[in-house]
Amino acid sequence: METILAVAEAKDGNVRKISYEVLTAARSMSSGGQIVAILLGSDSHEHADSLGEYGAKTVYLVNTQNEVGDTSVLFAEALQQLIEQIRPNAILMPHTALGKDVAPRVAARHGLGLVSDVIDIQIVDGEVVFTRPIYAGKAFEKRKMTSGLPFATIRPNNIRPERTTHTEVNKVDLKVHRKDLRTVVKEVVRKTTSTVDLTEAKVVVSGGRGVKSSEGFKLLQELADLLGGAVGASRGACDAEYCDYSLQIGQTGKVITPDLYIAAGISGAIQHVAGMSNSKVIIAINKDPEAPIFQIADYGIVGDLFEVIPMLTEELKQTLT
Ligand code: FAD
Repeated sequence: METILAVAEAKDGNVRKISYEVLTAARSMSSGGQIVAILLGSDSHEHADSLGEYGAKTVYLVNTQNEVGDTSVLFAEALQQLIEQIRPNAILMPHTALGKDVAPRVAARHGLGLVSDVIDIQIVDGEVVFTRPIYAGKAFEKRKMTSGLPFATIRPNNIRPERTTHTEVNKVDLKVHRKDLRTVVKEVVRKTTSTVDLTEAKVVVSGGRGVKSSEGFKLLQELADLLGGAVGASRGACDAEYCDYSLQIGQTGKVITPDLYIAAGISGAIQHVAGMSNSKVIIAINKDPEAPIFQIADYGIVGDLFEVIPMLTEELKQTLT
């Protein structure tokens, strides 16, 4: 492929890890072509350099953070301009909240098809074949474009980011025409105070209805903090108001792939499993030995989480200090 457009994201002053995963995926498709990146949310040239380390030859920088405007509408506008300018042969974007918002807008504007939540890319007989999970992760389907160009969003934490030797980057500040902005962001209210982003955390300690209260979630937070991880939750726990919906993992929540997932007091409903079954190691703590979560767990602890979690935390404190 001659030109692949890889969309990267910056958040809170940092390039998100998924950006490097998208670039790595783009390289796997390119076979000698050039990779052009667009970084949404930052105009830092330092950030552009980091994208160069993962294969981007040219990086277009778009920063709207200090301006009034609906960022997803504006970013879609930026992408539309860039697509018209460089005419890429394929487009890859992160399957993040922003990517899920921007990608369909871009697809609609250009009359393109879009394959979302892709976990693997292969070139078969010269054609790009995308693999994505279906039926809440119970099966996988392979898709290819029958018209237009390959356009996909990539699920975070599935493709291992790989650096290249290439470091020279051509940096371009993209000036976005502000036309037709029908919505604007007035204010952003953060729901969670955790410093670790749940979708990028290497360790996630999740609680379900078995945690019984918001007080109970403090036990999970303590363990997560010790492990440098984030706290997640089942919808059962969110519905019971033990924690915020922004922590929900699953089919209608966040899809995560941490190195370690600890599920405490979670039964393991299919809708929950859809969001965490690709975790590298799963530890389940549940007092019911028949709980379905044990079917997908690498390690199962049958017991009361209010005994097990404090024991684990204490043991880790001894080991880590
Ligand atoms: P429960 O099923 O009530 O399980 C609680 C578990 O805690 C039990 O296994 C129990 O044995 C254990 N337990 C209790 N006390 C203790 C203790 N002291 N120590 C140890 N273990 C204990 N759910 C999601 O999570 N994410 C989603 O995205 C999602 N999307 C959905 C979408 C749709 C359309 C629908 C219909 C449902 C969805 N659900 C989702 C809900 C899902 O079906 C389950 O209802 C939910 O996951 C159950 O949450 P839970 O495991 O915390 O609660």
